Amino acid sequence: MTEKYKITLLPGDGIGPEIMAVTVEVLQLIGKQFELQFDFQSALIGGAAIEATREPLPEETLAICRQSDAVLLAAIGGYKWDNLPRQQRPETGLLGLRAGLGLFANLRPATILPQLVDASSLKPEVVEGVDLMVVRELTGGIYFGLPKGIFTTETGEKRGVNTMAYTEGEIDRIAKVGFETAQKRGGKLCSVDKANVLDVSGLWRDRLTLMASAYPDVELSHLYVDNAAMQLVRAPKQFDTIVTGNLFGDILSDVAAMLTGSIGMLPSASLGASGPGVFEPVHGSAPDIAGEDKANPLAMILSAAMMLRYGLNQPKASESIEQAILQVLQLGYRTGDIMSPGMTQLGCRAMGETLLKVIASQESNC
Ligand code: NAD
Repeated sequence: MTEKYKITLLPGDGIGPEIMAVTVEVLQLIGKQFELQFDFQSALIGGAAIEATREPLPEETLAICRQSDAVLLAAIGGYKWDNLPRQQRPETGLLGLRAGLGLFANLRPATILPQLVDASSLKPEVVEGVDLMVVRELTGGIYFGLPKGIFTTETGEKRGVNTMAYTEGEIDRIAKVGFETAQKRGGKLCSVDKANVLDVSGLWRDRLTLMASAYPDVELSHLYVDNAAMQLVRAPKQFDTIVTGNLFGDILSDVAAMLTGSIGMLPSASLGASGPGVFEPVHGSAPDIAGEDKANPLAMILSAAMMLRYGLNQPKASESIEQAILQVLQLGYRTGDIMSPGMTQLGCRAMGETLLKVIASQESNC
């Protein structure tokens, strides 16, 4: 039976529309192969929305997103809007979307594709085979805790304050995403905290340990954040899924991402307790190459693969896209950002067409 899904497309700015167009074609073909029917609806966000409505996140966009099964976002921003007041800037639209959909969990994989081992700044033997996922809490912790601000003390000295706070409920819901993500991957979950110093981390560790009994198929371990940072660059292959708070996750997900060395290859997912998740590449709108057919669409297409796996529970369709990308790279095709000697350089559209051919041939091989 054909499964039907409503997908909101937010192409945004810069290279966004180019990489989104290619991704939609890939999804349409995958849909035919796996009996999935996608009902796509496009909406405005970022600079494109500012031009049309003067707002970076029109109410209509949020309403369309809320009614869909998943949201695919390309990228927002550009030079033109860089000097607008904060409330009117493209980035405010992105934050509004995350808040409006209650997205508290951010999933960022770092997978070293065998064909791109040399793109990493670390030695091939250290990074070869790395396949890890950082699950970061996105709406709590020190970025949102109160009190916060710059206050003046009794002696007239200024004092900057932020508060790292998590309730049991906030910890439990991100822990659940961590355990369930580990279940869909290699079954190992490493919780990262600073429980040797921070009380909030002590509570974090207690809750994770308590919840582990509900997931007997997941092996839980704990690391202090300083050690986790060290281990990520020393021996990253030991990790399968990492779950951590907002601040630690912000830093560790960037460290993990850079193990791969190529920004045009990194997807992400942001999930809430219910309702649609948002799936988007980690990179920005790359205004320096916008409109030149030079963008690498693979991070966007891998984000669509994450949508299939984590948003729509269609792991086979997701894997089919991932395998096709591996095959395209194996055949020696590269976009400019991941180009290396001896490979064949393609533009954004040609990369999409090549991928479509490989996906079509996968079907005929079934
Ligand atoms: P960027 O990620 O857009 O670009 C950094 C560099 O990487 C550029 O040289 C760019 O050409 C290259 N690059 C990025 N994605 C690429 C791709 N898919 N293929 C090939 N090359 C790629 O970051 P930036 O230059 O710091 O920011 C540009 C704009 O994007 C800014 O307005 C910024 O606010 C915005 N931004 C948006 C997001 C988002 O939408 N989530 C994230 C980061 C930055």
